[in-house]
Amino acid sequence: MNKVDIIAALDPDNDPATLFALADNIRREELGDGVHLRGLIEFSNHCRRRCYYCGIRAGNARVRRYRLTADQILGCARTAARLNYKTIVMQSGEDNHWGPRELADMVAKVKQETGLAITLSVGEHSKEDYKLLRAAGADRFLLRFETSDRRLFSMLKPDSDYDNRFRCLAWLKEAGFQVGSGVMAGLPGQTLESMADDILMFKQLELDMVGIGPFIANPDTPMAGAVGGSLDLSLRMVALARIVTRNTHIPATTAMGSIDPQGRQKALRCGANVLMPNISPTEHRVDYSLYPGKICTNEAPEQCAGCVDAMLGALGRHRAQGYGHTLKANV
Ligand code: SAH
Repeated sequence: MNKVDIIAALDPDNDPATLFALADNIRREELGDGVHLRGLIEFSNHCRRRCYYCGIRAGNARVRRYRLTADQILGCARTAARLNYKTIVMQSGEDNHWGPRELADMVAKVKQETGLAITLSVGEHSKEDYKLLRAAGADRFLLRFETSDRRLFSMLKPDSDYDNRFRCLAWLKEAGFQVGSGVMAGLPGQTLESMADDILMFKQLELDMVGIGPFIANPDTPMAGAVGGSLDLSLRMVALARIVTRNTHIPATTAMGSIDPQGRQKALRCGANVLMPNISPTEHRVDYSLYPGKICTNEAPEQCAGCVDAMLGALGRHRAQGYGHTLKANV
């Protein structure tokens, strides 16, 4: 698909039925009906950055800050193994107390005890630190570029650098990680043209994983009151990401489930093949408040597992076997 076709497919005036059906077919051909479950551990909401959209940004005094201990993280990983998840995703703000060295020790411990695949989502670090984390046993890394629009990026992330974000993605690949990136859909000022560039960027970066979710305005941020992204737009982005990248792993994200009770189910039917059930301790879930209305904050990990299996059954899908590593030929 070229840029003109992609823009047309994103246009809310065009019926998305054919687009969604095509994406669903490609998903089935490339990945089958198995859905990979990745247990999400939100291990710290401390962050040194001030991204305008994000509820856990530095300086937001309304957030009750927490940080899991090494034992608590290990406990979450054991829960994941017990629930028969094959991958954990360790996500946090950019927390100086859980720096690369501490994280590397943690990763090694989890790996040794559980053998789970480990994905990190801990923001921007140096090339050496990425190598350290990879050597410790982390398999994958998620770092969304958030938007391919340079101007919009610098408005949303006043203390980050657009070029550095992409440099980090290159370093991650060089370090041998399976790399995931992605964007928010429906950011204020984001045009259909820039979203078409996002899609083409997914392909150009040769990503292993692509994550897309609607922007949801957080009342405790400078973007309070902004209009959020729609589910329709997010689904079109998911479908296009599937069509253009073909065999990447694409999650039906929590943000989609948070703006529509059927959001994740709909994403699974137009290109997505991954779910990320929360395995964080229930007491802290509400404090990992990137955006309001986040689902599953009152549930325990076991409940989320039951809910997700029921969701898959209702869709005629099933848990995929194996670790769900990248399907790209280079690994
Ligand atoms: N700190 C790490 C990862 C944690 S945030 C990093 O920056 O990479 C995970 C993702 O949540 C972000 O990449 C962003 O795309 C998304 N996010 C943050 N605030 C959001 C909001 N208000 N609405 C929707 N998604 C949001």
